[in-house]
Amino acid sequence: MPGNSPQPSALTFQPVLERIATEVAQTPGRGRPADYIPALAACDPRRFGMAVAELDGTVYGVGDWRQPFSTQSVTKVFTLALDLAREGDALWEHVGREPSGNPFNSLVQLEYENGIPRNPFINAGALVVTDRLQTRTGDAAGTLLEFLRAESGNAHLDFDRDIAASETANGDRNAALAHFMASYGNIDNPVPVLLDQYFLQCSIAASCADLALATGFLARHGIRADGSRLLSRSQAKQINAIMLTCGTYDAAGDFAYRVGLPGKSGVGGGIIAVVPGRCTLCVWSPGLDERGNSVAGVAALDRFTTLTGLSVF
Ligand code: GLU
Repeated sequence: MPGNSPQPSALTFQPVLERIATEVAQTPGRGRPADYIPALAACDPRRFGMAVAELDGTVYGVGDWRQPFSTQSVTKVFTLALDLAREGDALWEHVGREPSGNPFNSLVQLEYENGIPRNPFINAGALVVTDRLQTRTGDAAGTLLEFLRAESGNAHLDFDRDIAASETANGDRNAALAHFMASYGNIDNPVPVLLDQYFLQCSIAASCADLALATGFLARHGIRADGSRLLSRSQAKQINAIMLTCGTYDAAGDFAYRVGLPGKSGVGGGIIAVVPGRCTLCVWSPGLDERGNSVAGVAALDRFTTLTGLSVF
């Protein structure tokens, strides 16, 4: 812990967030918004928001923390949790748990590994998880949306159908991944059905406050906002571990080094992070580095763990 200072009480989160926002505002270079999904390209890279949620649902925030943004791959954490809760360890026959070391939408490893994706957070793995959740629920994206609404307490969360349509129109690579895995028998549903569900899932718009709250079950060791159990303590640990090792594309090693928390990023510029037993965070700024992680988002989480000493290490 830096300087052996005591860990902050909840009341000190607000000044920490404000200090981080001031520092981030003075930092030049924000990266570039994702442009392979045309509807995301127009985002202003100078937008910045950050929220911290306590285990009891108290939320602190700064900047654009109530502004909805495109959640994209951040949703992969929630579909994984929802499927693991239903399916248990049988899921791991269909998707691995190792970092890929390749870009999130890479095809190359899949052929070597017989259509079994490396982990649930690269696109191929997320497609498998969504496919399995679709088989179990008949409505994977709707099940996810209901879960996010319940955990965030925000009944207005919804799909952004323009973003979903934009992805559908530019979705050749995800379609290729899905068809390729289907050829190995690792996809149950018709590929067009799966792609519709996956693009809807990725299109959900939510704010830093919504996502910090919705991530709370991972800090509460599997317990939902209403006190019911979604995951066993061990399953919550497993998801946090996969976030730490695979959650930030092929920069997970650098993220663990700088931030020291389980995290999951998306190309919309959002990142969620978990301090198990203590709090959850979400930061958003749409400018991305070359690996696809929010430049200001990673910097802000790096400062948060440095200033507070809150980390899993
Ligand atoms: N919908 C995006 C895709 O599948 C998600 C990518 C991401 O956020 O990593 O390409």
